[in-house]
Amino acid sequence: MAREKTLVLLKPGTLQRGLVGEIISIFERKGLHLCGLKMMQLTDELLSEHYAHLSDKPFFQRVKDSMMAAPVVAMCWEGVDAIEVVRTLAGPTNGRAAAPGTIRGTYAVSFQENIVHASDGPETAAAELRRFFREGEILEWRSCADAFTYANDEG
Ligand code: ADP
Repeated sequence: MAREKTLVLLKPGTLQRGLVGEIISIFERKGLHLCGLKMMQLTDELLSEHYAHLSDKPFFQRVKDSMMAAPVVAMCWEGVDAIEVVRTLAGPTNGRAAAPGTIRGTYAVSFQENIVHASDGPETAAAELRRFFREGEILEWRSCADAFTYANDEG
């Protein structure tokens, strides 16, 4: 049990469909702590690095093009086990297979157009936060609801 920070991207389709506020409020209502938020227009260069693990897939360029089709909203969310909590909220990659109640299960019917990106582990989260946020853009602040969000031995 440890406090972690994780990267979430609201993908271009989320902006196009007018779902930004709705998705942000899911993370807020869960009790996660917002430490960074900005809009960005992504580039092919940044996405080639971000999706390097997909570079041999036939849909690599298509996924990158989809991520450049409009701006994204990049966010840093913090919480105990935040990386896993956010991945569980997001659901599996394929929106058609994602369980109702998850973000992808509620808002997506596509493998590619699946609303959010969420870091998948501690090393990726650290590398991705460095990739998307500059020094000083992630802000440390204490939530006055903390004592009612966690037990005092939960982090
Ligand atoms: P995740 O985003 O769930 O961590 P990956 O890192 O495997 O999944 O893939 C990154 C993104 O590439 C996915 O969110 C999705 O938009 C797209 N993608 C992955 N696999 C496929 C696929 N088989 N067909 C279409 N798009 C895919």
